[in-house]
Amino acid sequence: MESLFAVQDEDVVRGQLEHRRANLPERASLVAAEAARAATVVEVERVGLERLDHVRRQHRYEGEVAAVEARLADLDEKLYGGAITSPKEATSLQTEMGHLGKRQDDLEGQVLEIMEILEPLDGELVTLTATGETQDSSIAAARTILDETEAEIVDELAASAERRTAALADVPEDVLGRYEKGRPMFGSSAVVRFSGSDCSGCPYSMPAMEADRVKSMAAGSLTDCSECGRLVVR
Ligand SMILES: [Zn+2]
Repeated sequence: MESLFAVQDEDVVRGQLEHRRANLPERASLVAAEAARAATVVEVERVGLERLDHVRRQHRYEGEVAAVEARLADLDEKLYGGAITSPKEATSLQTEMGHLGKRQDDLEGQVLEIMEILEPLDGELVTLTATGETQDSSIAAARTILDETEAEIVDELAASAERRTAALADVPEDVLGRYEKGRPMFGSSAVVRFSGSDCSGCPYSMPAMEADRVKSMAAGSLTDCSECGRLVVR
């Protein structure tokens, strides 16, 4: 019956390995690294949108500056090109040019203000890009460690399965059937050893009559504990 214990040992090992594989801290590290990366992507998007908003305003103002400049050039041409017939007209043109000049200054001031806003945003984007690259490396490293750890577990599972198969060769089919039937309920103690006076699986002491019954059996023989239902090897 030692082989049945060997089978049970490997079932326990497999259970532990599968539990370990399902709860690897290496996987949690990878998930955390990916979450940090995703947060950076969101931040890049937010800063990028904010930046785009200012860039659009900048372009609008620059367009207006260009229009004002064109209009000023036209008026300048008109004023000094000899097309003016009266001093009144000349004064009116100069007044408009004065207004336009002020408008141009205002617009250029706005553009400068926007450029000042853009500078730190651009800096933030550079920093975020660098952060993202670092995080990409962290993700790659975490994934490598996880893959290596998982591969180790897969190897250990295969080795355990091999040992179990070898042990199974000495376990009669009906005994294996009884063992497998008890496993969902008893887990790692589906088969237990008789201590000499106890089943060693029972939560309480084996009743004396049942203990006597097992004691009377041949060493190494198998029976069901009438108390807890486990397989007991005398
Ligand atoms: Zn028992």
